[in-house]
Amino acid sequence: MCGIVGAIAQRNVSEILLEGLRRLEYRGYDSAGLAILNDAGDIQRTRALGKVIELEKAIVARKGEQAMQGSIGIAHTRWATHGVPSEANAHPHMSSNDVVLVHNGIIENYQELKAELKAQGYAFNSQTDSEVVVHLIHRELKQHDFSQSVKNAISYLEGAYALAIMQKDNQDELWVARQGSPLVIGVGMDEYYVGSDPLALLQVTDRFIYLEEGDI
Ligand code: GLU
Repeated sequence: MCGIVGAIAQRNVSEILLEGLRRLEYRGYDSAGLAILNDAGDIQRTRALGKVIELEKAIVARKGEQAMQGSIGIAHTRWATHGVPSEANAHPHMSSNDVVLVHNGIIENYQELKAELKAQGYAFNSQTDSEVVVHLIHRELKQHDFSQSVKNAISYLEGAYALAIMQKDNQDELWVARQGSPLVIGVGMDEYYVGSDPLALLQVTDRFIYLEEGDI
């Protein structure tokens, strides 16, 4: 289980997220990634195998319309439990450029869920257990709003998770949940953050709300 950082603000959050990841580097990890929901409602994602510096280089290499700029975003350092360390297995994971999430922990019943989702037409782009969660939310969105879809998807999960989730049509919402993996909300001046460890957020706030088991 490794690191999560997220932010929702009135300014570009890329640097807040990258600094949060740097502060979590002491934990050890194999890859890193970041996703931003930009003002046009597009999800932009960059992932890299190796250190956070590799992710930074990949983000800097994006220019113009591809530049990662937006007021809501999530980021992750991965310690692989299911699937090799690789860019494809690095988080954030996406479903149809519509839902995107980061996950710490292990989804124990992911094989059953994966088989069910595949039978319903979902194609998987990684070997991770985490990818089932993003497709479950996408499936639920066909019938429910974002908040209800997150709650429904989580009701299917067995195992340990800390999750931070964005959806392209909900630019004011960052959903988080925890069960068996730590997650804390940081409160700023008209900004909110999320982190798997308050250390990741001390650069921006010293006010924290500790989520309890089962909180969404
Ligand atoms: N089980 C997930 C994976 O293998 C998350 C690992 C983590 O907590 O970093 O990608």
